[in-house]
Amino acid sequence: MSQLLSFSVGPSEVYPEVGNYLTSAFEEGFLSISHRSKKFDALSEATFNLLHEKLNIPTSYTILFTGSATESWEILAQSLTERRSTHIYTGSFGEKWFDYAKKIKPETLGIAADLNDAINPANFPMLVAPELLCLTHNETSNGTSISDNNLNAWREMYPESLIALDCTSSMAGVAFNWDLADVWFASVQKCFGLPAGLGVLILSPNAVAKAKAINENAHYNSLVAMLKHREKFQNSFTPNVLGIYLLNKVMVKALPISEIDSIAKSRATAYYQAVANNPYFQPLVTNSEVRSTTVIAVQMAEDLLPKVYSDALAQNFELGRGYGTWKPSSFRIANFPAISQAAFEGMLQFLEAWGR
Ligand SMILES: *Cc1c(COP(=O)(O)O)cnc(C)c1O
Repeated sequence: MSQLLSFSVGPSEVYPEVGNYLTSAFEEGFLSISHRSKKFDALSEATFNLLHEKLNIPTSYTILFTGSATESWEILAQSLTERRSTHIYTGSFGEKWFDYAKKIKPETLGIAADLNDAINPANFPMLVAPELLCLTHNETSNGTSISDNNLNAWREMYPESLIALDCTSSMAGVAFNWDLADVWFASVQKCFGLPAGLGVLILSPNAVAKAKAINENAHYNSLVAMLKHREKFQNSFTPNVLGIYLLNKVMVKALPISEIDSIAKSRATAYYQAVANNPYFQPLVTNSEVRSTTVIAVQMAEDLLPKVYSDALAQNFELGRGYGTWKPSSFRIANFPAISQAAFEGMLQFLEAWGR
């Protein structure tokens, strides 16, 4: 029997080469090395360089390894927030980020918006200049994303604010304009096509300067301590060396992000078209301007949804379940780069033909 193909939005289908990389990590002796060794420093430095190159990250930005995106939420509340961060969210991940931040900084401000709302400052006229504006670049729970135009509007409206973006389901799948925010973070089990257990946190020079000015140093993952270790390509705690090794291998082979981005866009257009053409399905997001290219959310009649899951399984496709409020009447499709052209075409055909 052929293996199940996962269209789940996280953890997601890994690159098929990952199996071989696991073996080579063992054979090349990476699984027992010290994280204070030269061998680790070299791996870590090479991986940072590859991320800069393949994702087009400015050399002035600093890349750090974390354990997860959730850890980045906590790091930002601890180390990059003096009084309070401001969160605008349309779905579950953005709301969870707000909830975590509020536990650490009780004055944290959260504003819920509708999933079809453009996250543009013109739609939030009551806001005062945020200290740290926290936005979910790609809201995995409902398949929405924030356009560069809207990000730019925030930059222009609040030039003194730091902007932090949760890019867990868009980094490595979408080409970013890195000038438009100061903090970008993700974990690798989504667009990077890797197993879970590693995150990346990327800081602009302004974010690094603010972290140093705040100088919060009460946690194992305090930013100033992480930045200090980063100078030697190291971590404050024993990191996921295997995860870093796999990330390195995947980045060596990865296409430049501009090419990945254009493939994702054309596949997304085809998916949304197929959904619109099938009378049983509708896009969950009706405002096409805020639709994600990497997470396609599809709405349908609640009573027919179980049959979609089982029909997909009969073709060896695992669909992503709906999330939160939308769970009973929607499913999601990961449009991530590790999904092959053949798998994409199979899923497209499934969406076009289902129920007809
Ligand atoms: C998956 C996801 C997270 C959580 O990632 P972890 O690696 O479990 O911490 C956070 N934010 C978004 C937008 C996500 O998609």
